[in-house]
Amino acid sequence: MSANPLSIECVSGGKLNLFGLPPEQLAEFFVSLGEKPYRARQIMRWVYQRGVLDFGAMTDLSLKLRERLAEIAELATPRVIREQRSADGTRKWLLDVGAGQAVETVFIPEPNRGTLCISSQAGCALDCAFCATGRQGFNRNLTIAEIVGQIALARREIAPLEITNVVFMGMGEPLANYRNVVPVAKLLLNDLAFGLSRRRVTISTAGLVPQILKLAVDCNTALAVSLHAPTDELRDRLVPINRVHPIAELLDACWRYAEGLASRQITFEYVLLDGVNDGPAEARELVRLLRNRPAKVNLIPFNPFPDAGFECSTPEAIDRFWQTLRSAGIVATIRRPRGDDIAAACGQLAGRVSDRRRVRLAEKLG
Ligand code: SAH
Repeated sequence: MSANPLSIECVSGGKLNLFGLPPEQLAEFFVSLGEKPYRARQIMRWVYQRGVLDFGAMTDLSLKLRERLAEIAELATPRVIREQRSADGTRKWLLDVGAGQAVETVFIPEPNRGTLCISSQAGCALDCAFCATGRQGFNRNLTIAEIVGQIALARREIAPLEITNVVFMGMGEPLANYRNVVPVAKLLLNDLAFGLSRRRVTISTAGLVPQILKLAVDCNTALAVSLHAPTDELRDRLVPINRVHPIAELLDACWRYAEGLASRQITFEYVLLDGVNDGPAEARELVRLLRNRPAKVNLIPFNPFPDAGFECSTPEAIDRFWQTLRSAGIVATIRRPRGDDIAAACGQLAGRVSDRRRVRLAEKLG
């Protein structure tokens, strides 16, 4: 087997997991078996377009090749530990990623679309004050196969419904796992694989500025930025990465990112925390930052979790905040919590992160 670096991380149980192998690596793999590189395209169509994971059923491959693949390769998705269904149709899977770690994937059906929310890390190191995942600390980055595996698994489970949008808004900070997240985003956009349009793939970040600028060049998907506060003083507390990349620097990167998006906007996420960031002064400051910019705002009523230490803003405060943005001409939506009865709403994903490394950002920054 060819000794390319990617194959190493994809090996499990002695077999090479072909899930998520970037097209070039897949072609190299077939060449190493003495096959033509175009076999990669054939297998991608089976796996990603038709959802066929059994090599035996891939009838345009020779019988000999199908048998060989079954011996040395696999198409393995993470094992489901538990599945939950919300009264609103939202589904959540808890997935085993080995060594006691588990991550969560959420599917949110709506009348005219189906959004899959995927995880990129077991835990998260960014330690945002109001986020359940952050509370658990960080264990490790997910591999490409583990991230793509979430999509393949969900697609199988939800049929005949379809995944029309994918958001990297599950557990973890996707841009902190840049090396594995970008190849997955590319597969989502690749016509031989999932074939989604750029605006239907959203990477959400707490504000890793160098990676935002790199992403603009490598694969400019839709971008969502977790702003959550309009001043550095407040954002330093709520989103500790702000102490490394403050608001001015972050917004500058956002406007540069938007230039490559051709008439598209950056989405700014703003969690509404009662008495913390939801007053008229914060709304006015936010207007000052975003007015006349390629920006829209997604207001997220805080989703509670045990010992969070925050409360959700009152409906009146939410409405007032929204009105201030709207009357300044800023497009703002209020995110309706989905799947909150199964703790599947934003910031409630906790999975299972044991043996965490002591790399929580706020601790490091002091
Ligand atoms: N690390 C990425 C993805 C995180 S989850 C990021 O920071 O963007 C997606 C969104 O949910 C983020 O905006 C996150 O800040 C927000 N969020 C986290 N905890 C929340 C909570 N308890 N209630 C509401 N939104 C929350």
